Amino acid sequence: MNKGLLIILSGPSGVGKGTLRKKIMVDSALNLSYSISMTTRAKREFEKDGVDYFFVNNQQFDQALENHDLLEHAEFVGNRYGTPKAFVEELRNSGKNVFLEIEIEGAKQVMKSYKGKGLVSIFLMPPSFEDLKSRIEKRRTESAEIINERLEKAKREMSQFKGYQYVVVNDTLDRASNEIIDILKKELKALHS
Ligand code: 5GP
Repeated sequence: MNKGLLIILSGPSGVGKGTLRKKIMVDSALNLSYSISMTTRAKREFEKDGVDYFFVNNQQFDQALENHDLLEHAEFVGNRYGTPKAFVEELRNSGKNVFLEIEIEGAKQVMKSYKGKGLVSIFLMPPSFEDLKSRIEKRRTESAEIINERLEKAKREMSQFKGYQYVVVNDTLDRASNEIIDILKKELKALHS
C-alpha cells in the first residue's frame, strides 16, 4: 500500500481554511483525513473536544512535548497548538492523505523535517486585507482585544507565503476548493506514478 500524502493548509487566521477544508473533504476520491490538533486555547461555543481540537491545559501540552508526541508545535496569539504525531503517521501508513490545518511557524517545521517527500504545502490567501478583516469581525467568537491581535497577526502572516508550493486565493468557496482539489489530484498522481 502507498503511504498517503501530507497536506499542509496554512493562511492567516480567518481566511476560511476550515470551511474550505470541510468542503474538500467531501470529495471521497481524495481519501482525505483531518489531523486533529492539540491546543491550550479555550473552546469556542460551537466546537467539540476531540473533533475540532483536543483541548488541553498547559501541563498536558508540556507533557506531550516532553514525550516527543508532537510533529510540530507553535504559539499563536497567546495559545499553544500542536499536531499529534502518532495519529498522522497511522493514517498515512494506512494510505490516507492527511490534512494539517496549521499556522506558518509549525508549517515551516514540517517542511524542514519532511523535505518534500510526500508533502504538499498550500497557502490560502484572502482576496484583500479588508475582506479578511470583515470575516474575522463577523465571527464574533473572540473579544475585541483578541480580534485586534489576530488582525495584526494576520497582516504579518499575509506576507509569509514564500516557501509554500502553492498559493490559492480564497475568493469564492467553489473556485478555491476546485483549485485545491485539482492540485491534490495532480500531486497524488505524481506520488503514485
Ligand atoms: P484558531 O484558534 O483560530 O482555531 O487557530 C489559530 C491558528 O492556529 C490558525 O492559523 C490554525 O490553523 C492554527 N493551528 C491549528 N492547529 C494547529 C497546530 O496543530 N499547529 C500549528 N502550528 N498551528 C495550528
